[in-house]
Amino acid sequence: MTEGRCKIDIVTERYDLDDTVTRYATVDERLLTRWTGADEGDSAGYRTLAAWFNRRLLKTVYDEHGRETTGKRIESDYEALTGDDDLVREDVLDDLRGAGIDADGLLDDTVSWSTMRTHLKDCLGGEKPVREAETEWEQKSVSVARRVTASKVDEALRSLDSKGRLPGGSGAEVDTQILLSCPDCLIRIPFDDAIERGFVCEDHLGAEAVSE
Ligand SMILES: [Zn+2]
Ligand SMILES: [Zn+2]
Repeated sequence: MTEGRCKIDIVTERYDLDDTVTRYATVDERLLTRWTGADEGDSAGYRTLAAWFNRRLLKTVYDEHGRETTGKRIESDYEALTGDDDLVREDVLDDLRGAGIDADGLLDDTVSWSTMRTHLKDCLGGEKPVREAETEWEQKSVSVARRVTASKVDEALRSLDSKGRLPGGSGAEVDTQILLSCPDCLIRIPFDDAIERGFVCEDHLGAEAVSE
């Protein structure tokens, strides 16, 4: 990843995707607007936006190769390409190759939700306005727990410092991040990030049930 340019920037440029958006000037403008909910109020998540981007990519390539894009074609091809069924995916890939499309290259150029997240936050410097409803008691309760923990650790540090067991320890800054981990893999994510993206582990903890 080169500085300030992620996969989304590169793919957007490679396929001239900016020319394919209609209501907005650029792909980035559309992504940011939909993410922050600046136009329609309800904001889209990383998954929704990544899927939109990938379908836009498919449509652009299909148009170039004269492959039909009407009806549910894009939708169903995209589902097949990203789904769990290897046979169905191979079928569509074969189909694309038959149409003269570099199917594997196309698949390689699709983006994940985490790439979308990096793009929105780091490349575009986007900030999602935090709504009152999103800081309900659950999050407040966790931040209280963090503060209590921090003050207990502080107390312990001061004592250890004065006993000479940890000289200078009382001058340390205490960071009490609450990390959530998946019992089935190595995924570990800060509590706040999990809330924001809407799941803890994409593969093992019911992310399939996440509507977006
Ligand atoms: Zn980017
Ligand atoms: Zn997992």
